[in-house]
Amino acid sequence: MRTLFRISVLSGVILGAAGSGVRAQLPLKPQVAKYVTVNASVVALTHVRLVDGTGAPARDDQVVVITGSKITAVGPAAITVPPAGATVVDLSGHTVIPGLIGLHDHMYYGSQAGGSMKAMFDSYPRLFLAAGVTTIRTTGSVDSYQELNIRRNILEGLIPGPEIVVTGPYLQGPGPGPGAMHPLTGPEDASRMVSYWADEGVTWFKAYTQISRAELKAAIDAAHRKGVKVTAHLCSVGYREAVALGIDNLEHGLLANAEYFPGKTPDNCPTDYAAMTRTWAELDIGGAAVRQTLADITAHKVGMTSTLAVMELSSPSRVPSDPRVLEALMPDAAKAVQAYLSGGNAEREAVDVAALKKAMAYERAFVAAGGLLGAGSDPCCLSAIAGFADQRNYELLIEAGFRSEEAIRIMTLNGATILGFADRVGTITPGKAADLVVLRGDLTRDPAAIRNVVTVFRLGLGYDSARLLQSVKGLVGLR
Ligand SMILES: [Zn+2]
Repeated sequence: MRTLFRISVLSGVILGAAGSGVRAQLPLKPQVAKYVTVNASVVALTHVRLVDGTGAPARDDQVVVITGSKITAVGPAAITVPPAGATVVDLSGHTVIPGLIGLHDHMYYGSQAGGSMKAMFDSYPRLFLAAGVTTIRTTGSVDSYQELNIRRNILEGLIPGPEIVVTGPYLQGPGPGPGAMHPLTGPEDASRMVSYWADEGVTWFKAYTQISRAELKAAIDAAHRKGVKVTAHLCSVGYREAVALGIDNLEHGLLANAEYFPGKTPDNCPTDYAAMTRTWAELDIGGAAVRQTLADITAHKVGMTSTLAVMELSSPSRVPSDPRVLEALMPDAAKAVQAYLSGGNAEREAVDVAALKKAMAYERAFVAAGGLLGAGSDPCCLSAIAGFADQRNYELLIEAGFRSEEAIRIMTLNGATILGFADRVGTITPGKAADLVVLRGDLTRDPAAIRNVVTVFRLGLGYDSARLLQSVKGLVGLR
């Protein structure tokens, strides 16, 4: 029965007469409107290959109906007819996936000179969106106030960009560190800082490599008292220790867990990074030590964030050169990236590559053990920039051995679950926000199709990826 009623039944949502729950075309601000190619109260994407974010096998010839800001129906084209008056977009030959959820998606880029962490509040929101990333957690901030303001500006439709989950300034221990971090003086200081920023509106914190167990414990307790969460890029504290302290999430997978290093002493980050890399490269992923870590993490329902794209930078000879990245970078940064990547040497990088392969195996083992794995780009440096590094992550998750549908689930539903709002984003399901990405080609057969973003829907508005990309050319590294 090819009727609207059938769609309603399929979706479990009653699509009333146009008007009820249907948003009129939005009066968009010109600075947003210039990137929007689809703005209609009802949109039907027809004949798509659908990877819905749940991990279920891809389905061919599907229809996705968007009403206002929400997905209202999903079903096979044979029985799912677009509602009368809908704007119909025939997407034969395209794959539709949920908007990507970047769990480690900074709003800064570190320039090569001096290691400064420079806020990218102009280019990054559009670049994330252009690449299909519709939600980010900033996971270490160099300017939390500005992140809060950008978040609000995006929500109010003043600028285009993803939903931003704002993180407080880094929680770092004493010692020389990057300039944007406050060195904690002890547990009271950690507690004070967390309480202050939670009151200002940030909802996550990220602890960093030199923090002590006592400071981390104080930070976690203060955060939980405020109803917010803590993740970490660890080194001084091992994963099992952090889990015992009550941490909510762990960043970077294997290559930030120093607990397997024989020279590790409590509260100290080993300084011999080369030796630590050798430890990771030689680690027995099936062995008792790793099994115990993964059992601890999963038993406490702690999420882990895969950041393979930034980890791959330690092995420049295997990083594919991406002309889109070079075009987005300011000229000096593009030159630095080209020099870095062309200076790669496979022989010299053998240990780094072995460590990267172990990091992939570690993530597979974590998921096999029932762990909740998300992903993020860490667009901090070199060729790891907003959005494009998220796309590279997908290819690396496939290389790690995940099926296409599993990798997309890691980058969508699992991220939403870690952030605590999987009820409203993360899968292509009636009732959820219409955040989805249209890719040219068949993603399940060609991993590189993740780069072929045509249109990105955010809350039902379709943004043109090419226009967004055009607008950030030469800006990354600058602003
Ligand atoms: Zn980071």
